[in-house]
Amino acid sequence: MEQADEPAIQRRLLMPTQHDGHAGLFTSRPNGYRPVAIVMHATGSGKAGSEFESLDALGDFFQRQGVAASHFAVDRRGRIMQYVREDQAAFHASRPGWNGISIGIELLNDNTGSQPFPDAQVVATRQLVQYLGTRYGIAAEAVVQHRDIQPEDRSDPAVNFRWDDFTRSLGSGVGSSTQSRRTAEGSQRLPL
Ligand SMILES: [Zn+2]
Repeated sequence: MEQADEPAIQRRLLMPTQHDGHAGLFTSRPNGYRPVAIVMHATGSGKAGSEFESLDALGDFFQRQGVAASHFAVDRRGRIMQYVREDQAAFHASRPGWNGISIGIELLNDNTGSQPFPDAQVVATRQLVQYLGTRYGIAAEAVVQHRDIQPEDRSDPAVNFRWDDFTRSLGSGVGSSTQSRRTAEGSQRLPL
């Protein structure tokens, strides 16, 4: 995908938690694993008003609930917050295989399908994805929606996030898709 400079990222790294005797929120990636995919989410439950009013409120929720978190979130004004370092496997998908190999990004949106994704949010998200894609050699085709990998019980991001336009706008950078494919063909297979 296209190269992008590092966007402005605020950081509020979560403290580790324990849940039922296991790590909650995040854990070390399997030995030697690097992220080879990006999973896009929306924060809302599908009810109006469920999108979290701010990046801090989302961080408070992650920390208090102690079970699941994503690495990054982008709010409706295009501000970006990081909660978990990329070298950790955050529990953002209920598929453990995906958590080990991916980076999770949340869009603050109620996921009803009627709350718009403002341009500022889409632009900042693209910049973040291109930055991470360039940094880790992740190809545009390894950027997926949560509902694509877990269609039985997830619908995020909602259908009004224009997915085809978004992935097309990432561009294809020389080398990046080759590198990502080579990684995926090795020990880190994409569990597609
Ligand atoms: Zn999700």
